[in-house]
This record gives sequence, structure tokens and C-alpha cells, in this order.
Amino acid sequence: MSDASERLERVRAAIARAAGLAGRLPEDVTLVAVSKTHPPDAIEALIAAGQRDFGENRVQEAQAKWPGLRARHGGLRLHFIGSLQSNKAKEAVELFDVLHSVDRPSLMTALAGAMAERGRRPDCFLQVNIGDEPQKGGCPVPEVPALVEQARRLRLPLAGLMCIPPADVEPAPYFALLAKLARRHDVAGLSMGMSADYEAAVMIGATHVRVGTALFGARA
Ligand SMILES: *Cc1c(COP(=O)(O)O)cnc(C)c1O
Repeated sequence: MSDASERLERVRAAIARAAGLAGRLPEDVTLVAVSKTHPPDAIEALIAAGQRDFGENRVQEAQAKWPGLRARHGGLRLHFIGSLQSNKAKEAVELFDVLHSVDRPSLMTALAGAMAERGRRPDCFLQVNIGDEPQKGGCPVPEVPALVEQARRLRLPLAGLMCIPPADVEPAPYFALLAKLARRHDVAGLSMGMSADYEAAVMIGATHVRVGTALFGARA
């Protein structure tokens, strides 16, 4: 087996184990392979191993990398996980299948317009600044009700909530808080968990884990 397929098997097995412990099905967890900064051949190796969902955090980088990969491989789903400027809404709607970082009213309005214009409707996750950290994206927890309501009013395809917990502290309480907010607002998806903590996230209900380093190795 290649390195890529060994890493992929290891991560998949860990997801299956965590799902099993929580009485969940592994197929209810989408593994998003975060390919930011990695070149197309590293991505090709994971595609060859069977991976189909990938995440990028910059529109320009994705525009450079993905049209070629998509021309060579069917069935790829591309997830946007970075901070999104409203003036990139059209490009994002055109290129991505899922947007994990929708976090403010002006961006929602821009996305609704871009979707109407382009005739594509990528699933949207509302990103929540779950640890109330000034340097991080995501809406403040108290604004979640108003933003969920606005997403519904604009008919954005709201798939769930997303968070990045504070670094270097136990993430489980933050995952649990995001899960509680999702239940309260009747949204199904939970995008949470990265290389260091995706197993805990799966046990607490993650439907999407965003894993880079554990699949590709360290970023330069
Ligand atoms: C880079 C990134 C990840 C992946 O992080 P790893 O620790 O490499 O798994 C996940 N989510 C977001 C939003 C990221 O920017």
C-alpha cells in the first residue's frame, strides 16, 4: 500500500471506531481531506486510494488546482473551509459543492445572489466562533438564531453548523456546545474535528470532519 492509502485507511478505521463507540454509522460521517497547500500529485494519491471529498481554504488556490483534477476524476466533492470574502461569492459558488464558513449577514446575501445567478446551490454550514476568540472567523454564539433565520429566509441550503475550537484546550465541551446549538435550531449537520481531535468530534456527533495533516503529512 502507498503512504496515502495507509494514512487514509488509518483515519477511516479511527472514524469507524469512534462512530461505533457512539452507536453511530461510519457512513454518516463525511471525511473531508484538507488539501490546502498540497500539490496536485499528493491529492491524486489520495484520489487513487478512494478519497472523494476534499477541502481548500483559498478560492484562488482552488481555482488553480481543481479544474485539472476534476477533468481527470469523476465524483469529486470540493469543500470550502477558509474565510470567504463577499466579493468572491460567485467564484466560490461556481467551484465548491459545500461551503463550511458562512458567518455573517452580508456574506449570506452575496451567496444567495450568486446562487440565483449561477444556478448552483452548494450546501452551507454556518460557522460559529464557539470559543469567542477575537482572531477567529465565525459568528458569535448569541447571533446564531438570527443567522439561522436569515439563511432560511434567503433559502440558502443550510446543511449545518461548523466550528474550530480554541487551540490547546480540551475540545469536547466546544463540540458539545455546537451540537446543542444545532439541535436547538433543528439543523442536521455538524462540521467539527481536525487531525488532533476528529475522533472526539465523531463521538459527539460530527457529520463532517476536516482532516489535513493526518492524511497528507505536515504542511510546509
Ligand atoms: C487546515 C484546516 C483543517 C485541517 O487541519 P489539520 O490539523 O491539518 O487536520 C481543518 N479545518 C480548517 C478550517 C482548516 O483551516
